[in-house]
Amino acid sequence: MSFEPTRFDPAFPIRIDLYSDTRTKPTRAMREAMLDAEVGDEQAGTDPSVWALCDYAAALMGKEAALFAPSGTMCNQIAIATHCRPGDEILAHEDAHIQSSEAGAPGAISGVLIRGLQGERGIFSADTLKEAIRPVSRYAPPQTLVEVEQTANKGGGACWTVEGLQAVSDVAHANGMQVHMDGARLMNAAVKLGVSAADIAGPCDSVWLDFTKGLGAPLGAVLVGSKAFIGEAWRWKQRLGGSMRQGGMNAAACLYSLQHHIDRLAEDHANAAALARGMAQIPGITVEMPETNLVFFDIRGTGMTMPQFAAKLRPHGVSVSSTDAYRGRACLHLDVSAAQVDEALGIMRQVVGG
Ligand SMILES: *Cc1c(COP(=O)(O)O)cnc(C)c1O
Repeated sequence: MSFEPTRFDPAFPIRIDLYSDTRTKPTRAMREAMLDAEVGDEQAGTDPSVWALCDYAAALMGKEAALFAPSGTMCNQIAIATHCRPGDEILAHEDAHIQSSEAGAPGAISGVLIRGLQGERGIFSADTLKEAIRPVSRYAPPQTLVEVEQTANKGGGACWTVEGLQAVSDVAHANGMQVHMDGARLMNAAVKLGVSAADIAGPCDSVWLDFTKGLGAPLGAVLVGSKAFIGEAWRWKQRLGGSMRQGGMNAAACLYSLQHHIDRLAEDHANAAALARGMAQIPGITVEMPETNLVFFDIRGTGMTMPQFAAKLRPHGVSVSSTDAYRGRACLHLDVSAAQVDEALGIMRQVVGG
C-alpha cells in the first residue's frame, strides 16, 4: 500500500501549530547566523562551522567526539548499525520511536530484533531490564544494546532521571551490553530536571540530540560518543548517504540553537502545564499531566474520535496530532505563545461544546 504525503492547504493556514515541536520555523537571528557561516566540505572534514558545532555538542554532553547528521532518525540508525550485528537483539521500551516510527529501519538496515519492555510513561526499571536478559546460549539472539528515549515521547514527554539511567546502564554494562540514548528532547529533560546534558549522557555510551524539535533549527541532529565509536559511526553515515558538503550553513543554525534556545524551553514547559490544566477542565477530555513540552490527552468522553476532534479544530487554524483513535498530542514550542495557548483552549471548549 502506498502513502500519499499531505500538502500544505493555503485555504486553511495553521495559526497555532500544536501538531509537533518539529513545526518551529527558524528565527531571523538564526537565519542570520546561517548567512554568516564559514563553510567547507563536511564529508572531507574541512567545514569549520560543522567542527564548531561538533566540538560544542561533544563538550556539552561530556563525550569525546561528535558527528553531525541530517536527522535524529539517521542518528538512531547509525548508532544501531554501529553497536549491533545482524541477528542481535535490542532491548527498548515497547513504545520506542525506533520501534514505531522509523519505518522498520532497525530490521531493514541492521537486521536486528527489538524486544519491547514495559514501564509507566515510556520508562522501564533496572529490574524489568534484568528480567528480560536471557542466559547466553547458542539459541538466543545476542542481546547487545539497550535503548532509552529522553524524553519518552509516547510516554508523554516523561524524563528519565539520572539515577534511573545509571541503574539501567549498570545492569546493561554488567551483562556486556551497550546503552544508546535517543535524546530527541534531551535538553527539555535537562531543563526540567535541573541537571546538565553531560549528567544525563554520562551513563550512556552513545547519545544524540535533535535540533529540529524545541530547539528550533530547520535541520540536523548530533550523535556523540567515544572517538572509536564516532569513527566507526562515520562509515555508517557515509553508507546511508548522510555525508554533507557545505553543511556549515545548517550547523550554524544548530549551534545558534544550543547557544540561545535552551533556557527558553522552560517557557514551553509552563505553556504545556497551562494547556493541560485548561484542557482538563473541558468535559469529556482526560489529560495526562505533562512533565515537559508534550501534552497527551484522551478525547473518548466527548463522543468524538481523535481524528474528528482534530478535523474540527483545523478550520479555526489549530492543529493537533492523533496518536490513536482516542489519544491525541499537543506540543509546545517556540512558535506557540502563552496567549495562543489561551486562544487554543477557547477554540477547544467551543468545538467540544458545540
Ligand atoms: C522526532 C523523534 C525522532 C526522530 O528525529 P528526526 O530528527 O525527526 O528524524 C526520534 N526519536 C524521538 C523520540 C523523536 O521524538
